[in-house]
Amino acid sequence: MGLTVRYFDYNATTPVAPEVFDAMAPFLRESWGNPSSIYAFGHRLVDAIERAREQVAQLIGAQPGEIVFTSCGTESSNTALMSAVLQDQGPRHCLMPTVEHAANLETAKRLEQRGAEVEWIGVGRDGQVSVDSLSGLFRSDTALVSVMWANNETGVISPIAELGSRCRDRGVRFHSDAVQAAGKVPIDVTSCPVDYLSLSGHKLYAPKGIGALFVREGAPFHSLIVGGGQEKGRRAGTQNVAFMVALGRAAELAGDMLEAESFRLTAMRDRLEGSLLELPGVRVNGREAPRLPNTSNLVFEGVESEALLLLLEREGICASSGSACSTGSLEPSHVLVGMGLDRLTALSSIRLSLGRMTKEEDVDHLISVMPRLISRLRGAIP
Ligand code: PLP
Repeated sequence: MGLTVRYFDYNATTPVAPEVFDAMAPFLRESWGNPSSIYAFGHRLVDAIERAREQVAQLIGAQPGEIVFTSCGTESSNTALMSAVLQDQGPRHCLMPTVEHAANLETAKRLEQRGAEVEWIGVGRDGQVSVDSLSGLFRSDTALVSVMWANNETGVISPIAELGSRCRDRGVRFHSDAVQAAGKVPIDVTSCPVDYLSLSGHKLYAPKGIGALFVREGAPFHSLIVGGGQEKGRRAGTQNVAFMVALGRAAELAGDMLEAESFRLTAMRDRLEGSLLELPGVRVNGREAPRLPNTSNLVFEGVESEALLLLLEREGICASSGSACSTGSLEPSHVLVGMGLDRLTALSSIRLSLGRMTKEEDVDHLISVMPRLISRLRGAIP
């Protein structure tokens, strides 16, 4: 019998939920028309798209018309940042924390190439952006602030409502990358002053290749992809009806399950951390801040994280040492370094992220193998 795979990397990606698969399958098998067609076989699919738009909107308290479907979270962030900053003759100063996901960091660098001035904000030891320090950084030409809702590596949640209010008071546009937060913690854009919010399907039990962007009514919009008039002229290209339906159903499910899953995952994550913290030289990064229920980023002093991940894999355990986009990089995580960890400590940290299919016995197994693996690796270090 093969090794049971125990997946602790839900922040990298999630499986497609069976309910989501069932919802989207008819749009691949039978209802495969083009929603822009004039005849009913195609055109009737518009209803399915609009239903999905409503479901996504409902998860975050938005109006359906404020949701634009995209191909992924990265595209959503690119679109949001470009929309806010690339206005003719408009202000070009942007503020962004150094610990953001590459989707935002690299877009900011591109904006710099196009004449914007990006000022990088530091975070505290707990991984959070300070609301007061942000206020001191506004300038008369500040166009945009972008702060992720929850960090993908540490799960640290930023004070988005407070940051957003400061931006709104100053008339500055505010984007939040909520790719990791959506479906894990409540989000309500009616009470939280964000102008743009990025979402991704594959962190939410929908397939890879679908995302959404919330654009508040009245916020500037710049289409990244031009061509046909799909998505009310905001995102050209024949619509991927099946994946839109999938994201809609996934959003609906995530909303229905949020409270119970949050409770279940927090309890499992805390039990896991409690056991691992009993080992010597173990710490949890970002533990002082509010965190996502499912995420734990741990330092194992004297252990090289890449070596630990390889040993974990031999035990059937999938985990990672940071963002999936930077796997294989020998550089320490920019998130952990940004929180003030030294290089060696950052390179001794791994991320464990739990999800809908994680069972207590998976956590038991991880807890049972870890002391042996850690001792083995510490013994190997002179
Ligand atoms: N933002 C965050 C916080 C993420 O964790 C990820 C994926 O790892 C992305 C953006 C990119 O999302 P996608 O893979 O859908 O482009």
